[in-house]
Amino acid sequence: MNISDITPIPTPPAGFKSGFIGIIGRPNVGKSTLMNYLVGQKIAITSPVAQTTRNRLRGILTTPEAQLIFVDTPGIHKPHHQLGEVLVQNAQIAIRSVDVILFVVDASVPAGGGDRYIAELLNNIETPVILGLNKIDQQPSESEQLDESYQQLIAGHKWPIVKFSAITGTGLDTLQTLLIDHLEAGPYYYPPDLVTDQPERFIMGELIREQILLLTREEVPHSVAVVIDIVEETPKITRILATIHVERDSQKGILIGKGGSMLKEIGSAAREQMQKLIDGKVYLELFVKVQPKWRQSRQHLADLGYRVEE
Ligand code: GDP
Ligand code: MG
Repeated sequence: MNISDITPIPTPPAGFKSGFIGIIGRPNVGKSTLMNYLVGQKIAITSPVAQTTRNRLRGILTTPEAQLIFVDTPGIHKPHHQLGEVLVQNAQIAIRSVDVILFVVDASVPAGGGDRYIAELLNNIETPVILGLNKIDQQPSESEQLDESYQQLIAGHKWPIVKFSAITGTGLDTLQTLLIDHLEAGPYYYPPDLVTDQPERFIMGELIREQILLLTREEVPHSVAVVIDIVEETPKITRILATIHVERDSQKGILIGKGGSMLKEIGSAAREQMQKLIDGKVYLELFVKVQPKWRQSRQHLADLGYRVEE
């Protein structure tokens, strides 16, 4: 659906529940994949490269009995740059401002320092926590015995545990039921047919960023930001102009590629995703601009649309 076609919010049926669920976990455990599966549409970008999620993005799932609003937080990690600090700060705000916390871990590997760091952050909070063991499709054995490292992780907590796979969908109905059990009676916060609170423009930028991360891998790391400059809708086609901001000339070179081949590849893959998003034809033109040290500047971050919350 088109996000701009928002219908008025109806009154929910008796006994309806609603609330905000913070999905937290270290990078790469599958938070974005999980949210996309639950809302039934790709709204968050996912990739094998860590720390792809930057802005807080809400995914909305409305069932006949409840509305679940998922907040996909950036992976929590030790800050290196100013951007890192903003990410961690936003994650901590998210922890305090939700009704339920879904702490996601990657159960295909033992718990690590990152998981323990988060478990500690969750030590003295009143918000209920559910521990989600993801990637069970990749677990080496089917044993019911929780890996010892996860036993240690939850020691002293009474967190309910759910096992699932965000890729195959196994276990997600159990998760959904458990989440709804933890919510209280509430209104529709969003129209029932909305799947995200972010404007299409933002999602489009994310779809471009995802292709950059997938196609250039480590070479053009996280120092890339995409700004959608123009969206022009005509009855036949939607014309989109976007600028990719990088820090160094060398990164610009990699992004453009030999004879423009890389930029072309990024553009056509992103265009395909955008066409699915808006369910129509897209013409996409990409520009690359070098802006040294943008990560260091908060004002600049704000200018590029990153919310720097107090
Ligand atoms: P995030 O950083 O926590 O948001 O993680 P992503 O959702 O971006 O996922 C990181 C990587 O893990 C991607 O390559 C996903 O395809 C993969 N992944 C996520 N969930 C699963 C799962 O249930 N099973 C498997 N095998 N891979 C998964
Ligand atoms: Mg993510």
